[in-house]
Amino acid sequence: MSITVTADTQFETVIGLEVHAQLLTKSKAFTPVKAEYGGNPNTQISPLCLGHPGTLPVLNENLVRFIIKIGLATHCEIAPKSIFARKNYFYPDLPKGYQISQFDTPICFGGHIMITLEDGSTKKIGLTRIHMEEDAGKSIHDQDPYNTLVDLNRAGTPLIEIVSEPDLRSPREAYDYLTQIKKIVQYLEICDGNMEEGSLRCDANVSIRPVGQKEFGTRTEIKNLNSFRNVERALAYEVERQKQLILDGGKVIQQTLLWDANRLETRQLRSKEEAHDYRYFPEPDLPPVIVTNSLLQEIKASLPEMPEVRKQRFVEELGLPEYDAVLLTEDRYLADYFEKVSDLSGEAKQTANFILTEIKRVLNDQHLDIRELSVKPEMLAELITLKTSNKISSSSMQPIFSEMLQTSLTASETAEKLNLLQVSDNSFLEPIVGQVISDNPDEVTRYKEGKKGLMGFFVGQVMRLSKGKANPKMVSQMVAKKLEEA
Ligand code: ADP
Ligand code: MG
Repeated sequence: MSITVTADTQFETVIGLEVHAQLLTKSKAFTPVKAEYGGNPNTQISPLCLGHPGTLPVLNENLVRFIIKIGLATHCEIAPKSIFARKNYFYPDLPKGYQISQFDTPICFGGHIMITLEDGSTKKIGLTRIHMEEDAGKSIHDQDPYNTLVDLNRAGTPLIEIVSEPDLRSPREAYDYLTQIKKIVQYLEICDGNMEEGSLRCDANVSIRPVGQKEFGTRTEIKNLNSFRNVERALAYEVERQKQLILDGGKVIQQTLLWDANRLETRQLRSKEEAHDYRYFPEPDLPPVIVTNSLLQEIKASLPEMPEVRKQRFVEELGLPEYDAVLLTEDRYLADYFEKVSDLSGEAKQTANFILTEIKRVLNDQHLDIRELSVKPEMLAELITLKTSNKISSSSMQPIFSEMLQTSLTASETAEKLNLLQVSDNSFLEPIVGQVISDNPDEVTRYKEGKKGLMGFFVGQVMRLSKGKANPKMVSQMVAKKLEEA
């Protein structure tokens, strides 16, 4: 039963996402041609990609292995037998006239992904299905003033489509869900997870309903979302638009909208086609996909430690705060980097601190992936060890690290070059401490009368005279001893 809407009706947002992930297989889904991104137009094609008569598809086994990996990692059931279907439509970048996809028998179904809400609690987002697909080619509209150009390199590259249940309740939850998907595909090394470059793509379905109403409202589907932020923004915009429309007495119509990232608004693309418009039918040229139990077991055994489990281990075994563990496990390679440095230096917390501040900043500023960083884990471990063994001060870590980025010298070479090695040598420090004490008789008297706060003053003077090279801990011990004797 739908609820009558008045000016004070509260609405609830309902969102379901369809995410396409481009798989990192070496070759295409049904033909042995390179699936790599970025080749010269129409150089990575075969007669099959061109839809020539008489060509026959042959299934790439890695497509099946990759989708089973994510199916298992997201708690899906894996169908022992599933079939491919043709999704028919006409478009210049689809010479075959159909995409090979899966329709009523997806290979994975009924799983879930956990997201973490703002209050720290977790929520299960249901997965309707994950199925296999091939991509279409690309129409290029902005290179020739008169014609649309077609590049078929992408035609036939393998995709998976992950369809969520309408379980998301806010644009923020949609954002978190996408972040989880990105993490999962990266951990599994089945997709590079880059939405800006199109290897993850998302269509967002959204509707609203009065709080308390059982039935869902009519949804719209937003396309052209090329970043996680844009998904969140577009959904927030669309929720507001639907709300105004309904409050003004109008009705939401089911349609596909395009997000305009420059004008920050959605606009109409076309009214939504229905499944029957695609005239799906079973692909006659491919046999059913049979997943044997032994294949399932083999893939299960090969799965890496997933982010949630790894985070928990960082907290329990390495004693990291939850917050650090979450940030570090967001990216598999950042977590790998952290774990290496932490193992080598034996200093989990210090390592986490340095990575989450200095290293993250450098990666952001220079748009680098952690795997591209010139300072390798062994090199950072040495820097941290220099600090924990008091050979350098904590304030020297940053300048040494910056220099290492430029030169690829080791941490101790760099500390030496920048003259930042702390001196813990008695024979060097002794005379300086002596001099500071004899130069400041008034302070010595006041200290002896009980002004213990003057310790900072003495240590400061020694640090100044040693040009910052003294080890402050050691200086303060020496000063304390000397003052006793004085
Ligand atoms: P289609 O086949 O037209 O793409 P589906 O039924 O497969 O439609 O649903 C596509 C997506 O839309 C799914 O992620 C689903 O959760 C979501 N969805 C379905 N109904 C609604 C609704 N009323 N509001 C928001 N999202 C919805
Ligand atoms: Mg769909």
